Amino acid sequence: MSADYNIIIIGAGVVGLAAARAIAEKGETSVLIIEKEDGFGHGISSRNSEVIHSGIYYNQGSIKAAYCSRANKRLYQFCDKENVWYNNCGKLVIAQQGQDPALQDLYQQGILNGVDGIRLINKNEIASLEPNIAAETALFIPSTGIISANELMSAFYRISASREHDTLFMSSVKNVGKTESGAYEITIIEHGSTESSVTANWVINAAGLHSDAIAELVMGNTAPSLKFSKGEYFKLSSQWANKFSHLVYPLPDIKHDTLGIHLSIDQSGFAKLGPSAAWLDSLNENYSVDEDLKSVFYDEAKKYIPDLDIDDLSADYSGIRPKYFVNNDQQSDYYIKHEKDAGLAGWINLVGIDSPGLTAAISIGEDVAEWIIN
Ligand SMILES: Cc1cc2nc3c(=O)[nH]c(=O)nc-3n(C[C@H](O)[C@H](O)[C@H](O)COP(=O)(O)OP(=O)(O)OC[C@H]3O[C@@H](n4cnc5c(N)ncnc54)[C@H](O)[C@@H]3O)c2cc1C
Repeated sequence: MSADYNIIIIGAGVVGLAAARAIAEKGETSVLIIEKEDGFGHGISSRNSEVIHSGIYYNQGSIKAAYCSRANKRLYQFCDKENVWYNNCGKLVIAQQGQDPALQDLYQQGILNGVDGIRLINKNEIASLEPNIAAETALFIPSTGIISANELMSAFYRISASREHDTLFMSSVKNVGKTESGAYEITIIEHGSTESSVTANWVINAAGLHSDAIAELVMGNTAPSLKFSKGEYFKLSSQWANKFSHLVYPLPDIKHDTLGIHLSIDQSGFAKLGPSAAWLDSLNENYSVDEDLKSVFYDEAKKYIPDLDIDDLSADYSGIRPKYFVNNDQQSDYYIKHEKDAGLAGWINLVGIDSPGLTAAISIGEDVAEWIIN
């Protein structure tokens, strides 16, 4: 097949860039990344909690569990090698009175998922690790951490560019066809008006919130479809800076398939709460934060931060989760597939990559590179 590029990647978020980096490490130079925004990482990848997850939450046997457990160590190694900022601070999943059975279940799941070093701790140990947190019991998870998503994506992008990969920003994929020689022909609208097309033997669909719509361009109604859940954050005032040294999570919110309104810290030691979870009727990329949620956040966080005052909270930012559900499962999973069995050899779908996608991206990218290059 003769084509302009061997590989086209649609989407320059952490997943697309992780694939580009892994492909670059294999020596492949004929790569084009197409991104609708004016730079990389303007989508979900810069609207999240920036947590390196351990893999404890995901059902045994799920794709999420497999990728997250594998990627956790891999990501720390990569950060060390490429000088990406992280803090392996560890985390507490806390239980209040009456929640111990659910905490025990989570602990067992963590064991089954092979999460390193997890252990149950009592009230006294919680108080010594986090004096500002009140809880009856907790799970201590040492392999959790926080990371600079921007530095991670910059490192991926740098490695991709070092292999002379091309990038087209401000270019939105509008259609996909096939050439007579069997290559994929991608129609792009550049800068909102100029239409052009480019061909490739392989296409990696890493379009985040739009990955289902891109899949639909080639698969029609057999494409995986997504549901969307908005998550909002409130930050804590500077008086809470450097008052916590671990991430603190309540038990997961199974009804909304989320981890619950948790406390995380950033690179400067500032603390934030979130994300909340609200299903959207359809994809609406409105990232405003609803001030009316302040009391909801306060009520949730006050359960474990007794000295919190409602005036300590102010609206911060929000993100949207792309959720892919298999049958009627309560927990979403990833749709990661080379679609050769659907008659689409060379087309790879990376759809529904919600949390822990920032963590998992490195291993997803490495697998994709392996499928293409070996
Ligand atoms: C609230 C929230 C909290 C989270 N917290 C964590 C966390 O703590 N830890 C963790 O591991 N994960 C977390 N995640 C998940 C993680 O952020 C995502 O899994 C990951 O960022 C997804 O990356 P992506 O590259 O698939 O998507 P994106 O970053 O959205 O990248 C997709 C790119 O495709 C581009 N694009 C879309 N359509 C087109 C088109 N037609 N043409 C060209 N380009 C297109 C977009 O502009 C975008 O840049 C969280 C997610 C959310 C929403």
